[in-house]
Amino acid sequence: MAGGPHDNDPLAVDPETMRELGYRTIDLLVERLQREEPPIRRATPAEMRERLHGPAPDEAEPFAEILAGLDRNVLPFASRDGHPGFFGFIPFAGPWPGALGDLIASACNLYAGSWMEAAGVSQVELEVLGWFKEWIGFPSEAAGSLVSGGSAGNLTALACAREALAGPMRDDLVLYVSDQAHSSIARAARLLGFRPEQVRVLPSDASFRLAPRTLGAAMDADQSRGLTPFAVAAQAGTTNTGAVDPLDELATLCHERGAWLHVDGAYGGFLALTERGRAAMPGLELADTLVLDAHKSLYCPLAAGIVFARAGGDLEQTFTVRPEYLKDMDRYGGVNFADRGVELSRPFRALKVWLTVKTFGLAEIRAALDRSLDLALLAAELITESPRLELVTGPSLGVVNFRSAAGVTVEDMVANVVAAGAFISATTVAGERTARICALGHRSDEQSLRSVIEAAAAAH
Ligand SMILES: *Cc1c(COP(=O)(O)O)cnc(C)c1O
Repeated sequence: MAGGPHDNDPLAVDPETMRELGYRTIDLLVERLQREEPPIRRATPAEMRERLHGPAPDEAEPFAEILAGLDRNVLPFASRDGHPGFFGFIPFAGPWPGALGDLIASACNLYAGSWMEAAGVSQVELEVLGWFKEWIGFPSEAAGSLVSGGSAGNLTALACAREALAGPMRDDLVLYVSDQAHSSIARAARLLGFRPEQVRVLPSDASFRLAPRTLGAAMDADQSRGLTPFAVAAQAGTTNTGAVDPLDELATLCHERGAWLHVDGAYGGFLALTERGRAAMPGLELADTLVLDAHKSLYCPLAAGIVFARAGGDLEQTFTVRPEYLKDMDRYGGVNFADRGVELSRPFRALKVWLTVKTFGLAEIRAALDRSLDLALLAAELITESPRLELVTGPSLGVVNFRSAAGVTVEDMVANVVAAGAFISATTVAGERTARICALGHRSDEQSLRSVIEAAAAAH
């Protein structure tokens, strides 16, 4: 592929070839993304090995052949969350402008760690973080950072909480979560050195929320045993049911006792862009740390999570280190995003967010989120009307759980939906298996929802 102005570069690609390979790739993508394929196609490990296993080649292979193989052997074997019938887990579906953002960030290989090397890039990240603060009602002095997702965000936030409140790990620190908290919080706690007996998993109430009374009693009990109530990790939209903990009351309780309130809004946070979503999450703006996921409810491609610390300097205080080869970093002013988390080399995640929001405009994004909330309402209505189905939870922030009223197992209902060319997933709510619908996909509509409910009701 050598040629062009970089003749001495063994990895050079000449401009003509760059264009040709680029156009070919774009053509393949546009064609593929228009094609209607089932929302999920699975394969056995043996089949995938058969299709893909082989040594790294010594010699160059033609790019067109590599692309064709990718289209045949890799791309079909994945969930297509952007399918209108995809109502499982949490549908991720980042439309085209965000994908182009990743392409640009990647093609220009933009580094997003220090102001010294990335003034333009860092300012875009500051801009999108500024938007988010405004949407949430977070103070302008709050500081944030884009991370890989909600899991990385929860880990970053809890590390920040521990550094700000306690410093080194101690045996007396207790972290409180409800039994509906996301699993990434338990993992973050483990990585930070909390042993299982330092994580209090409290029973949620009948609406799957962490009741302030339950939390207060647990804190009292721990305090009387000489332990320190350190932090509460609350949910703004649980993955199971979309439930929102009473954040305003939890904030009061935490702040009376000097404990930290972390809010995991990875699922629900961006629904605050809608009136109904905002009203469902009072107190979101009171969090000491907050996590959001732009690749869920902000329609960005994987992966972009956000972590915020309310007191601006807390992230930097937790993460800044200065080895000798980075001493010059502080001479140029501006934010060094590498100081706000664990990544030194970090990609330009903010670009896909910036392009998505600017290309569609907030009104369109709000309308899409509102439509998801409407679809979840409709799902609850259709389930309630169906003599063969029973509503178990919701709708709450776009999530609905249901069971069969005709003795059909959840697995059989899910299988019937998949056979009908759509997708829902199953979970366990209050000890009972349920089928779960999450209506966040921006291509989902009334028709695709109705066919899912019909297929679930028809299962036997
Ligand atoms: C998805 C999710 C997470 C984890 O986020 P990732 O982006 O998958 O790492 C954490 N909390 C909640 C509530 C979630 O829905």
